Amino acid sequence: MLICSVCGGASFESEPVLWDKLVCDWQLAPHERAYIDRQQGTRCKTCGSNLRSIALANAIRGAVGTDLTLGEYVATVDARRLAVLEINEAANLNPVLSRLPGHALARYPSVDVHNLPYANACFDLVLHSDTLEHVSNPLRALAECRRVLRPKGVLCFTIPTIIGRLTRSRAGLPKSYHGSAETGTDDFLVHTEFGADMWTYVLQAGFSTVSVNAVEFPAALALSARNEPISACVRSLPQAKSLRPERVVSVHFPKAAGSSLKSQFATLLGDAVSLDYSHDPLTPAGAETALFPDGKRIVHGHFRAQRYASANAYWITFLRHPVDNLISIYSYWKSLMTPGHELHGRFLREKPSIFDFAAYPGIRRLMSETYFGEFDMNRFDFIGFHETRDVDVRRLAEALNLPLVAEIHENKTIHSTERQQLEADPSIRLRLEDLLAEDVAFYERLRYRHGLSFGAPNLDTTKLTVRP
Ligand SMILES: [Zn+2]
Repeated sequence: MLICSVCGGASFESEPVLWDKLVCDWQLAPHERAYIDRQQGTRCKTCGSNLRSIALANAIRGAVGTDLTLGEYVATVDARRLAVLEINEAANLNPVLSRLPGHALARYPSVDVHNLPYANACFDLVLHSDTLEHVSNPLRALAECRRVLRPKGVLCFTIPTIIGRLTRSRAGLPKSYHGSAETGTDDFLVHTEFGADMWTYVLQAGFSTVSVNAVEFPAALALSARNEPISACVRSLPQAKSLRPERVVSVHFPKAAGSSLKSQFATLLGDAVSLDYSHDPLTPAGAETALFPDGKRIVHGHFRAQRYASANAYWITFLRHPVDNLISIYSYWKSLMTPGHELHGRFLREKPSIFDFAAYPGIRRLMSETYFGEFDMNRFDFIGFHETRDVDVRRLAEALNLPLVAEIHENKTIHSTERQQLEADPSIRLRLEDLLAEDVAFYERLRYRHGLSFGAPNLDTTKLTVRP
């Protein structure tokens, strides 16, 4: 029997809340409409909480380890010690939560969940409810929630989830709004429709565990994630070499976050950085080998990884999907009037199509051969990805113990109409994936090992992050 985890009530009433246009935009089947209606429109007759609130309250009870109802719990001494952040009114729980002395309510638009105005590690509990689908970058929002949580603090939240399909971005689809049939304001605009893979976002945002808590399946689900360092062997192996790596080789693979690292390393470390841009792998000088320079902490630049193969160092790089990378380099090279090197000179003279460019020497296997040929990729301690740049820069900052900032973007390529056409046309992408097949396979292997890619066809994280 269903019991209200807010007040303990046991009788409920239901009314449908979805309207036909939303059901149509969302492409819900009748049974999906029924469980979303139940989630939003079934209420406790005693306290008015709907199933969504009850699911969230239940996740909170699990997180704090209490058998009391949420209403009873907030009066306890334990609860009164907690620092709790509620982001937007979390379902109908605000009247109960606001009884806590350590409660803060952060509301859109004065607070943006992408940039919470709080110090690191200052809350025990962060809560939101049906908010994540409305933010442009849910990964970033989740990473922000983790940032403000104390060690072992817990994030509990709900999102409308269609459990029989995968998450999809609504980018490029007609606008769809929650709230009510009359609302059309941007805070109700839906960016992401979550599906069965919703838990992957939590892990991608840096949490090490996620639980799905069901009061009633599938109508009343809530997720909780504890802010604990990733245990076991996932990260401790590479980091075990040194707590703060003293010798770092950083391969600047083009158009994949390397320029912002370059300027931040230079600012933060000054003379301890050796910038090596004189051996661009696309030039004849690229094959020369070198020793790790004395007295330096980081060597960073455009060079073949093999150039410093003799160095016993902490190896890092950032990569990007070869098709997006090619399009980005193509647009960037076009935008420059003076050639940076011989191949770029040829490019400016010949004005190749994107497909001809993909066949250029050095370009077709830019990743698997030009930059990383002959090198044992298992030697890399850290590989970040442009697609999850924000989270990965933070991970790198932790690993190097340097205050690197993900928000600094350098050397952005301007978005031309031609580039947008290249990026948007699926037939162009497919043909480029064929032409770059070796690099795509190389990239996917590394992404599987170093990033979090589950091969879900709709989990297109490039749609969720800012793309320079
Ligand atoms: Zn109740």
